[in-house]
Amino acid sequence: MTDISSTDSSNDMFMRDCVPRLHELSNNLWWSWTPKSRHLFEALDQTLWRLTHHNPVKQLQEIKQARLHHLAEDVVFRRRYVEAFKAFDEYLATNEHWFGTNYPMHAKAPIAYFSAEFGLHNSVPIYSGGLGILAGDHLKEASDLGVPLVGVSFMYRQSYFRQVIGLDGWQVAKYENLNQQDLPVQPALTASGTQCRIAVELSHRSVTCVVWKVFVGRTCLYLLDTDVPENTPDDRQLSARLYGGDKPVRLAQEMILGMGGVKALRALGIHPQAWHANEGHAAFLHVERLQEYVQQGMAIPRAIEAIRQNSVFTTHTPVEAGHDFFSHQLIEEYFAGFWKQCGFSKQAFLEFGKHPNDSVEHFHMTALGIYFSSLVNGVSAEHGRVSRRMWQCLWPDLQERDVPIQHVTNGVHVPTWIASEMNHLYSKYLGPDWMSESDNSAMWQRILEVPDHEIWEVRQVLKRKLLNFIRHRIRSGWVSGRLHAEQVLPGGTFLDPYVLTIGFGRRFATYKRANLLFRDLDRLRAILKDRWRPVQFIFAGKAHPADEPGKQLIHEVYRYAQSREMGGRIAFLEDYDMHVAKFLVQGVDVWLNNPRAPFEASGTSGQKAALNGVPNLSVLDGWWKEGYDGSNGWAFPTTSKPLDEQAQDDHDANVLYTVLEEEVIPLYYQCDQDRVPHGWVTIVKNAIRTNAPQFSARRMLKEYVDKFYIPLVRAESQSSDSSEPIESAG
Ligand SMILES: *Cc1c(COP(=O)(O)O)cnc(C)c1O
Repeated sequence: MTDISSTDSSNDMFMRDCVPRLHELSNNLWWSWTPKSRHLFEALDQTLWRLTHHNPVKQLQEIKQARLHHLAEDVVFRRRYVEAFKAFDEYLATNEHWFGTNYPMHAKAPIAYFSAEFGLHNSVPIYSGGLGILAGDHLKEASDLGVPLVGVSFMYRQSYFRQVIGLDGWQVAKYENLNQQDLPVQPALTASGTQCRIAVELSHRSVTCVVWKVFVGRTCLYLLDTDVPENTPDDRQLSARLYGGDKPVRLAQEMILGMGGVKALRALGIHPQAWHANEGHAAFLHVERLQEYVQQGMAIPRAIEAIRQNSVFTTHTPVEAGHDFFSHQLIEEYFAGFWKQCGFSKQAFLEFGKHPNDSVEHFHMTALGIYFSSLVNGVSAEHGRVSRRMWQCLWPDLQERDVPIQHVTNGVHVPTWIASEMNHLYSKYLGPDWMSESDNSAMWQRILEVPDHEIWEVRQVLKRKLLNFIRHRIRSGWVSGRLHAEQVLPGGTFLDPYVLTIGFGRRFATYKRANLLFRDLDRLRAILKDRWRPVQFIFAGKAHPADEPGKQLIHEVYRYAQSREMGGRIAFLEDYDMHVAKFLVQGVDVWLNNPRAPFEASGTSGQKAALNGVPNLSVLDGWWKEGYDGSNGWAFPTTSKPLDEQAQDDHDANVLYTVLEEEVIPLYYQCDQDRVPHGWVTIVKNAIRTNAPQFSARRMLKEYVDKFYIPLVRAESQSSDSSEPIESAG
């Protein structure tokens, strides 16, 4: 790069260099988790930055030439520009990352990671919730650690949906068509230089997909897209919506994701040495690989062995409804001819997806994923245990404790979820390089050295930022006429920065019990409306458009938010997504989670909160069972006695009120003469110190690599008769 930091070099030269490079950066989502590059785009044109909802691809289309010429003369901008691109170029060029250092022999062994959704950034809305955000965090962390991962998913042109709460308090799902040119997405090219194009056989027809590519730091995500002219109008819509269709659409999508995904990687010349199916949606990838082996002349039992040897499957939920299954009839229709072609019987094929406890006989995607994987895991220690019980039926000869399902507890991508103010504080006290050691517990001990008032001050700033964000959104909705006065009030108009603020943001699935707080209204009102020590709650979350009980829950919470009875202390934020989630997990004082145990597999939003100094108040389930140590937040134990749901809810609500009344509220409002609640700050520091390293994506990804990917890659290279020496693990 020419030295363009000095104004001596001509304006034109800067313009020549700058525009293509900014395009390049905007097309690599690395920018989204790197403050220097985020700030660069923000400085480009602050108004546009806001208007495009932080979408630099769109921003660069709309920016005026005059503005660029102006920036070319701005020394401060130029310096920022040079610094941002220095970091970008170094990031892409270096081999000195964790993976390269520990596993130099495998630096070029691709690992394929298939997931129906990826939550990377709001400008690429191909996610619905926790599963997708976990996949996005997995990919970003793989990039940071230098793990040669490639992601496979869908280009959903209508994404999930945007949530609006109507005047009647019911959720309305809005679908918008994404504009291809606004996305950081390019054609994935084959060796011949044309866009990759593959076809998947479905129910006697062939569906064509084109493949797109998204750069995520050093890694890549490939997206399948059926919206091409040669497909029928219905087939063109197959990849339109995430979790949108009925059973046949869902089956078609999953066949395309799994089978089409393998074909796409092959067509692109990518030959993974380990295959990771994230949840059952992706498990048809094994069926495609089976077909490949059979076509190469391998006997079926050997092919199955070969697939297992390098496959890992992650299951994500103990909730039955979260596991996809299809009727045998539908499978027969869609796989017609497939098994004959592969030389096995219908019965043999259906066995792959057999759930021994299902009397009706469906084809189960989780069973399929487990069948073809030598390594299987749940997403927390507790979920591992629950999954061993749930799937013991697949190993009838084994005791529950011997069922080969392990766990890797989820974690969050620290650079994505950290508030910039907290980043600043950590840089000061943990060291400027703290993020590269985010999984190092010893480093985090230094948080105890931060003066109480300083961390308290930052927490207050973040709360004000959240409330400003909320008020700005409602104000602009009201001014534009989109919101009526009746919607303005429950949206958070009355939120008060001096009041203890408790956040609850997640999908409105019934087991998450968003309405638990409202079980005893008298007791709740007393808590909310206490004259000296009031409490306010902020709720946010979408329900799947077909989930009637989930939508009912939103309606119920929204009604409370509208009710005068609640003292204006309940707010409901529309359209929970990654952007809203960032403000919420960073800005509240406490993060509440009260699922019906043991149905929370892990949960990750509470991990994002803890990273930012927001302690959790949570049922002892999922990650919190590992995360809670008595000093870093609050847990409400569920009873050991088996109860029916009503009794369990009564019991848990009672514990929730008691913990609030006796512990959380008094501690928060107990300030010393310096107006700092030192007891509270101690909990804040402990939450950071203990939870941040343990529930970082860095810890998680290293575990996936050491426990799963490397053993699978080694098994693969040994069986493929490789003479590669085996190095010692890091
Ligand atoms: C983190 C996150 C989730 C997952 O939250 P859980 O606590 O796992 O339920 C869902 N949606 C969004 C937008 C998130 O950021």
